[in-house]
Amino acid sequence: DADQLLRYAADRFSMFGEQQGVQLKLEVPENLPPIYVDKDAINQVLDNLLSNAVKYTPEGGTVVLMAQVNRHQKRLHISISDTGIGIPSRDLKRIFERFYRVDKARSRGQGGTGLGLAIARELVQAHGAEIEISSELNVGTTVTFWVPFAKGGTAG
Ligand code: ATP
Ligand code: MG
Repeated sequence: DADQLLRYAADRFSMFGEQQGVQLKLEVPENLPPIYVDKDAINQVLDNLLSNAVKYTPEGGTVVLMAQVNRHQKRLHISISDTGIGIPSRDLKRIFERFYRVDKARSRGQGGTGLGLAIARELVQAHGAEIEISSELNVGTTVTFWVPFAKGGTAG
């Protein structure tokens, strides 16, 4: 149940986000088709991406968790956008590598290991799916991944 998966992920982060002065918005259409995923894995992906979005977004910012149905390809596209510090374009190519971090002085958080995105990519790819990132320095970052519909769950 994609709707529940996304709502629970948003719930796990809304409190944390509020503490950091970052608002979390959920933009999820009604009646999402069922998806065929390892629930624990996708929860981990969502947690990694949402924690990044909150961690790298200054107070007063907004994080949007969005879902879009692609009926043609039988995929649910999920994106997490923030209004945060962004990532320099020279770092974007390597950002999914293990332990790769942009200059840690930029992060207002208590740092991290640089594994969150690498793990997220592995988990998404284990579904035969892909994850992408786009970012503009000092404007914000969007990470998008897709997951397959369950067979017979195309909802028309
Ligand atoms: P952790 O292992 O705790 O997740 P991390 O957050 O540093 O540590 P990743 O999640 O892999 O590691 O992210 C790698 C780097 O990419 C981060 O150190 C940060 O520089 C940059 N980054 C990731 N997400 C964002 C974002 N939403 N906005 C700006 N920079 C980001
Ligand atoms: Mg991280």
